[in-house]
Amino acid sequence: MKVAHVQKNLQDEWAQVKEQLLREYGQATYSSWLDPLSLVGLQEDCVVLAAPNDFMRDWVLNHYAQSIGNYLKSVNDNYGRVSIICDSQLTKDVEIAEEERESISASLDPRFTFENFVVGKSNELAHAAARKVAESKDVTFNPLFLYGGVGLGKTHLMHAIAWHIKKCHPERKVIYLSAEKFMYQFIKALRFKDTMAFKEQFRSVDVLMIDDVQFISGKDSTQEEFFHTFNALVDQNRQVIISADKSPSDLEGMEDRMKSRLGWGLVADIHPTNYELRLGILQAKVDSMGIDVPSKVLEFLAHKISSNVRELEGALTRIVAHSTLVGRDITLETTQDVLRDLLRANDRRVTMDEIQKKVAEYYNVRLSDMHSPRRARAIARPRQVAMYLCKVLTQRSLPEIGRKFGGRDHTTVMHAVKKVEELMISEKSIGEDIDLLRRMLEN
Ligand code: ADP
Ligand code: MG
Repeated sequence: MKVAHVQKNLQDEWAQVKEQLLREYGQATYSSWLDPLSLVGLQEDCVVLAAPNDFMRDWVLNHYAQSIGNYLKSVNDNYGRVSIICDSQLTKDVEIAEEERESISASLDPRFTFENFVVGKSNELAHAAARKVAESKDVTFNPLFLYGGVGLGKTHLMHAIAWHIKKCHPERKVIYLSAEKFMYQFIKALRFKDTMAFKEQFRSVDVLMIDDVQFISGKDSTQEEFFHTFNALVDQNRQVIISADKSPSDLEGMEDRMKSRLGWGLVADIHPTNYELRLGILQAKVDSMGIDVPSKVLEFLAHKISSNVRELEGALTRIVAHSTLVGRDITLETTQDVLRDLLRANDRRVTMDEIQKKVAEYYNVRLSDMHSPRRARAIARPRQVAMYLCKVLTQRSLPEIGRKFGGRDHTTVMHAVKKVEELMISEKSIGEDIDLLRRMLEN
């Protein structure tokens, strides 16, 4: 009886799972890899899906099968495994290929403009470089290589460049696509023996942007193709803009000549955000949504959710949605309540042990000096910095922090925090130390 029920609903459930996959992986990944999958049916408790070719089947198996399985289980826990077969009869893929021949460029998010980008210390270089590239017709640095951790605004800046050019120089041809999509298109072109058409698409482009290029590291033939496309465009003085999660030299699985070539232009990194920038982004966001959120709440979020901007925005969206749904005002209490799991995840990031270890390493003192009663300045100062970081990066109370530092009194901790805050203003180098330590700890 159970089985019949399962069969009947499988289509609907698969549709639900697809929605979740779209949400999790975003449009580019979804349309390249997940949407082409089709539902075959159920064999006992195993959900069978079909991919249009071997390559895609293997790729999906390696990258998305687990997540697909988890989602299926979450909508119906009668399902056990997922199996993916290859069905070369599937025509969907061919249809997509026809459509996409029109334009290879991915669609642009209308919110990702320069106007909506908040500039702070951590992203000012990347922002200035992006603006320069967007505004000048001459190629000044080629390529522009933007890199930084996840959710820090790389894609936002690339879309902003594309929007700006579209608006001010509509005659210029701009292609923006993820490296994943580049690879997918290339593989497909190989399969349809259509690599000429593939290359043709890039020939007349004025600005080419490839997002998340780390994705093609290790994929030799795609890398080779990318290298050719890249070289051809740079040689013709067309602007190329690349993003990645690491600097060119740190990209693993990338050929050396490629790494070196990627670093020839301007390499601009985006650092993790600081508190002021996070607050600025939240403020801009609530202004644009035209809603009222108490500044205490914004400060709390900016303080607590330091991992990346995407998570920060997600948190704000969640509390706003919650307040609209239940019809209650947004307060610090409801915020803490609604975001409990997220806050815990952010807290878990740094422990007092990690802080003590990092700070000791950084200042070249012994870890045991963090607990020792010694008061020599060369040791006391690092210890104070570590206490300060424990206060701002963890949710530990002053007495708890004191205990961790050799059983010191909470007033000592309070004094240390004050002292460091003063020093951060009066001594530039301390401010920089703290910035750097935070960055290392928060990653
Ligand atoms: P990345 O590509 O580096 O992973 P995204 O560009 O997708 O990150 O940014 C994640 C989210 O954070 C997006 O919604 C983006 O608009 C937002 N965001 C990131 N940095 C900023 C910023 N400086 N100002 C405004 N929004 C930002
Ligand atoms: Mg991105």
